[in-house]
Amino acid sequence: MPGMNGHNLRARQLSDARFASIPTLVITGQPLDDSARDSVGAIPILPKPLDLSFLFAAIEEVTLPPHRSKRCGCGRVYDSESWQKLARLAEMDNGRGVGERLELRQCPCKSTLAWELGRHALSVRVPTAAESGDPET
Ligand SMILES: [Zn+2]
Repeated sequence: MPGMNGHNLRARQLSDARFASIPTLVITGQPLDDSARDSVGAIPILPKPLDLSFLFAAIEEVTLPPHRSKRCGCGRVYDSESWQKLARLAEMDNGRGVGERLELRQCPCKSTLAWELGRHALSVRVPTAAESGDPET
């Protein structure tokens, strides 16, 4: 991209409502600190060299309708019920600035997965495992 790096492109995309909801993922050869990671929103970030199984999982993540299922790069697939049993890490805005929220949970393979709580709508907060009485957390 002449005259623009990936961070600038993503910032411009998120600043324009016409483009903010375009499914996006990042493929980078650069190490990302927390600040750089947060700046792109909670979208899949894949390191180079690219692992095709992670690429396919990431494409599915950004293109499937929300709340159907979540596939980790390790191959595990979660529906809304099995998702609730994973260790909850955080809830965050997805960075698009339109009220979309993501819940982050940890797969047993130690990957962090994001579940979209609401698309272009105020989210309904999902109870944590501790709040729902799950003894595993
Ligand atoms: Zn996994």
